[in-house]
Amino acid sequence: MIRELKIHNNLNRKKEVFSPIEAGKVKYYSCGPTTYDFLHIGNARALVIGDLFHRVLKSFGYEVNFVRNYTDVDDKIIERARELKRDPIEHAAIFVKECEKDMNSLGMIPASHTPKVSETMPEIIQMIQDIIDHGKGYEVDGEVFFNVPKAIDYGKLSKKDMDSLQHGIRVEVDTKKQHPSDFVLWKPAKEGEPFWDSPWGKGRPGWHIECSAMAKKYLGKTIDLHHGGVDLMFPHHENEIAQSEAANDCPFCNNWAHNEFLNFGSEKMSKSLGNVIKIRDFVEKYGGQVLRHILLSVHYRARLEWSDEVLNRALDEVKKIHEFALDVKTYQSAGSYTAKEITECVEKMTEELSNDFNSAGAMGHFFSFMRNVKAHKEELSVESLVIVKKTMTFVEETLGLINKNPVTVLEALLKHEQDTSSTGVDAQWIEGLIEERKMAKASKNWARADEIRKEIAAKNIVLKDNPDGSTTWTVQS
Ligand SMILES: [Zn+2]
Repeated sequence: MIRELKIHNNLNRKKEVFSPIEAGKVKYYSCGPTTYDFLHIGNARALVIGDLFHRVLKSFGYEVNFVRNYTDVDDKIIERARELKRDPIEHAAIFVKECEKDMNSLGMIPASHTPKVSETMPEIIQMIQDIIDHGKGYEVDGEVFFNVPKAIDYGKLSKKDMDSLQHGIRVEVDTKKQHPSDFVLWKPAKEGEPFWDSPWGKGRPGWHIECSAMAKKYLGKTIDLHHGGVDLMFPHHENEIAQSEAANDCPFCNNWAHNEFLNFGSEKMSKSLGNVIKIRDFVEKYGGQVLRHILLSVHYRARLEWSDEVLNRALDEVKKIHEFALDVKTYQSAGSYTAKEITECVEKMTEELSNDFNSAGAMGHFFSFMRNVKAHKEELSVESLVIVKKTMTFVEETLGLINKNPVTVLEALLKHEQDTSSTGVDAQWIEGLIEERKMAKASKNWARADEIRKEIAAKNIVLKDNPDGSTTWTVQS
């Protein structure tokens, strides 16, 4: 039996009952990472939310065909590979492997397909040809553009109209384009760049076309659900729609869901801010379970404001959950206790998740379940104990909030506690504040910068601002 689910569909900005084209089967696509460097925890939000959708759909009885791509041909990759004197394709392949390690550490279940651009070239070239054949693309000197004014309803996802688009675009130097909004489908290779043969000469695809081609290859012309970070809505997703609908002459996707940003010190987390925490470094320090926990503790459409408080709460909750997961295995049915917090927990969590994947709401029910079971562990009825085990399995499988091996999680947390208490200071806490102070200074917020210095000084830490702009710290003896 399939459980009904409501999803907030960004095509019409409404929460709707999800109704896939083929009953019981979901064609689901999520935009994956560009593999040029290690991922940071901002990237982790999109990945874990994509995984949440996948798990919930499966748990609700759907057969899910889930595609998440790797962008392994891209300007950033070429640039980084050049710096490292490495072949770009080889460089990207290294980081595909590194991404996979990060995804495993975040407890993500495998997607059905994880295509790479470098392995989808024939389909990409065919799709560009189809777009040209339908009169919606044109070639100039080996470069192919999508003709935006010819797209049907361009802007229907991001709610931008052609007038505002034209207005917002700076005067372009690129005179090859017929319209300033037109975007690249294929570009000629420059000296030393990777290239593929095409009807328009040696070159490589623009960014947007890969997702259209991969979705079609693995899912078909019209898909049920497409996910990505909210930053991808325009132009990336808008362009995916334009390309697919131009090439295929039918709707591309029926439901669009976007997760909000992860904010760090109330700024969008991005590399340009320099306040990046790599997933790898976070996991090394606290374990992946803590990061997953934080990312699911806020509804995907709400901004997640990163703070020490958020981190500390997660550390505490993850510890409690995994101590409980270990402890519960030893429980015996020894009485007649039962309560609706126990018997109804799975149903309540399911209800929350069926309401636009409300993982935060589901977690709330699980915590009151856990408190109740712990308080009555000596007197649980046979029935209650069976339900307790089922509930734990649900949380493990549908949310991934319980690790199969609780001991590993607890050991990682214990190690962190010991590291922190041996020096008496939490290095990550200080580094975080130093970054925040740097940003405060950059935005001339001297009051906040001073406040941070005092906050750190209160822990007997002295900051030293170096001539090169960096800041180091020492513990005052
Ligand atoms: Zn995409």
